[in-house]
Amino acid sequence: MNDEIVGIDLGTTFSLAAYSRNGKTEVVRDSKGNCLIPSIISIHRDGNVFVGSEAKSRSLSDPTDTIFSIKRLIGRNLKDLERDLPYIPYQIKETVREDGRIILTVKIGDKDFTPEEVSAIILGEVKRLAGNPQKAVITVPAYFDDAQRQATRDAGKIAGLDVLRIINEPTAAALAYGLDRKRSGTIVVYDLGGGTFDCSVLSISDGVFKVLSTNGDTHLGGDDFDHAIMELIINDKLQSKSKLTPVSIAALKMEADKTKRILSSDQTAQFNLKELPFIGEKLIEITREEFEVKVAPLVERTIQCCKRALKDAGVKSTSVDEIVMVGGSSRIPLVRKMVQEFFNKKPLTSINPDEAIAIGAAVQGEILSGKRKNLLLLDVIPLSLGIETLGGAISKLIHRNTTIPAIATERFSTGVDNQTGIVFNIYQGERELAKDCKNLGKFILSGFPPMPAQMPQVDVSFIVDANGILTVSAREIRSGVEASVKVQPASGLSKDEIENIVLESIEHADEDFKQRMLIELRNKAGIDLNHARRIISNKDLKIKHEDMELIVNSMASLENSLKQNDPGTIKNILDKFQTILTPFASMAMDAAAKTYLANQKPEQLNDLGI
Ligand code: ADP
Ligand code: MG
Repeated sequence: MNDEIVGIDLGTTFSLAAYSRNGKTEVVRDSKGNCLIPSIISIHRDGNVFVGSEAKSRSLSDPTDTIFSIKRLIGRNLKDLERDLPYIPYQIKETVREDGRIILTVKIGDKDFTPEEVSAIILGEVKRLAGNPQKAVITVPAYFDDAQRQATRDAGKIAGLDVLRIINEPTAAALAYGLDRKRSGTIVVYDLGGGTFDCSVLSISDGVFKVLSTNGDTHLGGDDFDHAIMELIINDKLQSKSKLTPVSIAALKMEADKTKRILSSDQTAQFNLKELPFIGEKLIEITREEFEVKVAPLVERTIQCCKRALKDAGVKSTSVDEIVMVGGSSRIPLVRKMVQEFFNKKPLTSINPDEAIAIGAAVQGEILSGKRKNLLLLDVIPLSLGIETLGGAISKLIHRNTTIPAIATERFSTGVDNQTGIVFNIYQGERELAKDCKNLGKFILSGFPPMPAQMPQVDVSFIVDANGILTVSAREIRSGVEASVKVQPASGLSKDEIENIVLESIEHADEDFKQRMLIELRNKAGIDLNHARRIISNKDLKIKHEDMELIVNSMASLENSLKQNDPGTIKNILDKFQTILTPFASMAMDAAAKTYLANQKPEQLNDLGI
């Protein structure tokens, strides 16, 4: 059995797999040496399924039963796709299921397929070529939302893969170049693929990548460069006005793609019209210069996207440490030249740009397998996360350096009688008191029934997803009342800032510990004093005069001790107070139970097992 972890780049136009073994990476190739599998499937009327190059060649003869660019549909609904619809030639249908979930399907032949199923067929082919691994790391664009990531995960599951992680494409590209070994820095990943352009700004600190911003154009890529060549041939060179059939357009595009690739290495290329029935035998020469004049405005558009991404990340082009070029179209010399000019720095291009993302996914796979020990931790929570408790202390739910995704739940209660709501203040930091940590936001859980202090049971959950987004939710168990909030922790913190925060917490450890003890003791004392007040005002207990005096006196001395700032003294007095109060507290409990039972009907008592 193949128990290695495969890295998969599930691309819009091409998909591929790679492995990382003992730090050496290798992409998976077929018998002809090709590693790129076109992300295309085609289903013949007899039910035969074609995937990859076979499907691509059928797209000429059987365009309606051929599906490409399914990645544009995954995890989306029709409304999300408004902008894309004009570009999608196949039929898309939206169905609302009984449970309210909206399902998008595409029609191939007379069958409907979900984008997950189509992606699973592509993943199945990748998996087969990779020697049937069971576990995988799959990449997605950094801007993919939860639904798109989940749908990609589901596609993996349908293909029989255990998807260990979904990672961001730009992070994978940076990993392929080993940039995780840098102590700190800013990285731009420039990804110009077949139909899309993505620019991401990442920060790296101690092996942890963070996406600071993304920008791009979902309709700018290799296809547009092909169209530029087609235009050059038809309009400029042939000056043809005749209308082209869909089949001849598809044939022209394939030839344009060939010519474009040649122009990435040669100064001239022959556009071969021989196979194109509508023109007759002809070879037309195109120079790289002619091509560059046509496509310069397209490349300029990618530079504008980079500018916006930098602006959003708050990074100057001069302070970028590395530029990583990925995506097949980044091989075009003009693209490299214009990127280099803009950043005033030579971009990284040594790894094949169409293989870098799969290689990075494979590296992540090897890290997850634990076989790559010399690598630093990836994707960890840089600073602890918690909530403020009564009195201003912090209860940390997730501690720093926990790997993400992470989840933690803790139970809390109220401090005051008849409270019907709680305000949750969320903090990040290493210190013990809220005032010394960073507030990330707050939310209110309200509308649960009034109860004595300490009676409500509120479960607070912290979930940090793969993107570092924190969702905090709270639920009062008895009433089922719920509330939640989403926050982005640690945005914009540099490694040095994080280090300072940690150092400060060590420096102040003793003082913080004392403050925290004081808060906890005062909270406890507050609750016990309230309890005592209820006991002494309860006439039914018939407390003797001298006992009453004892309780009242010890209450007074406890109240007095709270005014001091010495945890030791408070603790001593609180202990004594609790010893005095205990027998009366049990008297009160017995009395309460009796009253309760006296008020119940017999059948209800049965329910209680009495
Ligand atoms: P995806 O969009 O799936 O991530 P890729 O990154 O593999 O796809 O990019 C595919 C695009 O790269 C195609 O449009 C292809 O024509 C283009 N491409 C591949 N090699 C070259 C090359 N040598 N010169 C120019 N374009 C290329
Ligand atoms: Mg890609």
